[in-house]
Amino acid sequence: MVKDFSRLDSNLRYCCISYDLEPWYRIENLRGASISDSDDRLAHQLELVCEFLRSQNIVATFFILSDQAVMRQSGLLRKLRDLGHEIACHGTSHRLLTDRLFTKEAIVNEIGTSKSMLEDATGVSVRGFRAPCFSITDSLFDILAGLEFDYDSSLNNSPLNSRYGTLSRSGNLLRPFVDTDTSIVEIPLSVMNFFSRFNLPISGGGFGRVIPRSLLLRAILMFLEENVSWHTYFHPWEFDDGLPRIKQGFFKDFATYYNLASYTQKLHSIINHVSGHYRLKFLTYSQLACMCSKNEIS
Ligand SMILES: [Zn+2]
Repeated sequence: MVKDFSRLDSNLRYCCISYDLEPWYRIENLRGASISDSDDRLAHQLELVCEFLRSQNIVATFFILSDQAVMRQSGLLRKLRDLGHEIACHGTSHRLLTDRLFTKEAIVNEIGTSKSMLEDATGVSVRGFRAPCFSITDSLFDILAGLEFDYDSSLNNSPLNSRYGTLSRSGNLLRPFVDTDTSIVEIPLSVMNFFSRFNLPISGGGFGRVIPRSLLLRAILMFLEENVSWHTYFHPWEFDDGLPRIKQGFFKDFATYYNLASYTQKLHSIINHVSGHYRLKFLTYSQLACMCSKNEIS
């Protein structure tokens, strides 16, 4: 039987905060730019993020890119673990899974290697995966099940970014669901659907910086009238106003650098405001996936 948590406590809503932890220069908008990997700024950025999470008493999930620059600082990963945050997997190369030259065998090898590296570095079992740029494909659940993952969070149902992947299946793909063939739980990034026609991203990231606070807050509150869980993602570099400015053209520069200085404050404000409407309970993605697999939430 599916429990209806909204009936048990109509005011209770779950919120999953996540970060895609990767060096700032690995983002797609800077692909091809000539940047030294010596200035990854990770320690500083994680300090900002951890201070925010501590101030809001949040345990978060970090989908970690296990590339050389990150693994050089494995002490930072163990610090996240010691603070109670979840260690999850984001691959090693940040290559999009939708790249047709990226074979299934190579994807299995990359994700498996990344999972092992993160487990060796932190001593914890890695249960979740997120594809670079949400480049989900139909074969991903099979791959993750073969590598003993429990859940995926690579589905971002928004038409506003051409890099996002899609799933060719029917059913409601806007809420968490369990893939019946593999038992992998999918936790899609939250979007507010308007008139069954348009999905506005309300999960954070670049859209969270660009969308005006009042509109974003209104859409989140509308979303939570019909959904019991809100799933977000950010990048540690999005809170670092000292990020080196690499010119890539107007639109890319806007998407990368807009509102870095005030994003933390905007997030504080939105969470505090939502908490005024609902009793927000923060969960890691793994905790939410566990509830989904037990049919305790959907
Ligand atoms: Zn990423």
